Amino acid sequence: MGLSVHQFTEFVQTMARGLVGVAFPEICICCGMPLQQSRFLCHYCSYDRFEDANPGGADSCAGVILPEMISVQDAMWIYDKNDLLQQLIRELKYNGMGALGLELGRLTGQQVAGSRMRYHISSGADIVLLPVPLHPKRERKRGYNQSERIARGVSEKTGFTLARIGDVTRIRNTRTQTGFSMGKRMKNISGAFRMNNPGLIGGNFVIIVDDVFTTGSTVFELARTIAPARPAGIGILTVAMA
Ligand SMILES: [Zn+2]
Repeated sequence: MGLSVHQFTEFVQTMARGLVGVAFPEICICCGMPLQQSRFLCHYCSYDRFEDANPGGADSCAGVILPEMISVQDAMWIYDKNDLLQQLIRELKYNGMGALGLELGRLTGQQVAGSRMRYHISSGADIVLLPVPLHPKRERKRGYNQSERIARGVSEKTGFTLARIGDVTRIRNTRTQTGFSMGKRMKNISGAFRMNNPGLIGGNFVIIVDDVFTTGSTVFELARTIAPARPAGIGILTVAMA
């Protein structure tokens, strides 16, 4: 028995809704408001819900002490008291939401990298976005590298060159750093990265991209790894500040 035209139309509509529902949630993952466009966050959660990590547009966020080789550090949002931003970052890291990383990267590119961070990059050098590499084992398990997704979104909005996976790799699968003291974190991460493509770094301004800036031990170690290739400068960009 075939379907009537009406049944068939209904079937196609249900299928289409189902497919769209899988690719894009229909409600904001922060507040549950219905979304107008196919995105993860509503307009309010994209632009007004979270606190700016660097409202004065300084060359680094308040309280951050940078090593000499790093001249600029910026982040879009600062962790809030009610944990909502941590939950969002956790979704990105552990719940297979690579597309959310792309969306957060676009927002970070729009709100931070292309304008106020660019302002502090005085050299006329080309800008290269370098996502913090994951160990291949961990990347396989997760299905993607959240920092790479973020950097991809930033690149989309700014036109900055995106480093390829493999230009710098993680050669040691370090334990999670949570709960470690700064000294312990530095020891844990030391020698974790290897630079495979110094040509990409030399003479360019490299912006290291990660999801959250906490103590900086990981991004500082990555900066130390690429410094011998003589970049024109090094910066750090994250979605969030803990
Ligand atoms: Zn929302």
